[in-house]
Amino acid sequence: MRLIKLLTMLVLCSFLLNTCEKGDSNSLFPPNQQSMAQIFNDRYGLKIQRVPVIYNEFTDQYVSTVYIDGSLYRAYMDQNAEVNFKITQPLFPKGETRVLCILRLSDSLFMQKDLVQEYWENAQAGINALHQNFVLGYGQSEPIVSFKTDNYYLSHEDFPIQNPNENTMGHFQDFARQTNLDLEEYDIFLWMELDLEQPGGGWADWKAQLAYVNWIYENDLTINQENFDGLAYAAYQHEIGHVWGWEHDWTDPFLNIDFITIPSLFGWIDIDGDGFVEILDPFPYQ
Ligand SMILES: [Zn+2]
Repeated sequence: MRLIKLLTMLVLCSFLLNTCEKGDSNSLFPPNQQSMAQIFNDRYGLKIQRVPVIYNEFTDQYVSTVYIDGSLYRAYMDQNAEVNFKITQPLFPKGETRVLCILRLSDSLFMQKDLVQEYWENAQAGINALHQNFVLGYGQSEPIVSFKTDNYYLSHEDFPIQNPNENTMGHFQDFARQTNLDLEEYDIFLWMELDLEQPGGGWADWKAQLAYVNWIYENDLTINQENFDGLAYAAYQHEIGHVWGWEHDWTDPFLNIDFITIPSLFGWIDIDGDGFVEILDPFPYQ
């Protein structure tokens, strides 16, 4: 699993960034949950008390995130106490998340469609189990995040497009028209372009709530559960992580953890001690 994580960290990935500002500094170093909250308050006029603060050994910086009132605020502090701020309005990582997944299979894979379906749906169940087990560890029964995915397995003949990588949202709209699907019923659009002959990486567009994953294994054409678990990790952790606002800088790739990043950065931990994890807290980080 660790190898898969390292590989998926290397998956080529681009996504849209918003503002990035430099220049603020703070004498309180290293930062803690309260001092970092104060940094957000000073910068954005928030009224929060405690925020998660993670030291990332890989990038040698402190990372802090705040999901509040529809916005995701991030602060990255380097060893000189210099802070980079970012703010975007991504989908929040919580609740039942409805995913429309199109898997476009090359001919050789389409001939094994039943096997592909079995491995893919097992892998998706594994992702939901991970979220379920995470809250069980805190004595809760309801997962913070659950995915309800509708999968469509298409051959190139079913969906003959030249560049699935381009105008991907348009392809979802075409597909919805052909099949009388209502795109409004979905939160996330996931395109799995599985062609063993043309492996590649993935990308996400958080504004469109769109994630795209190729066959990510350059030299491995094996159709097995492990490879599909890796594809699900690339899709539901890495790329959908980007749809939630996750950035590569949040993650130390040498930490062996179940999720793409430390859960508190997604608001999945009760930081302020009021009994609610922050992403579900009516008064988050307060
Ligand atoms: Zn990425």
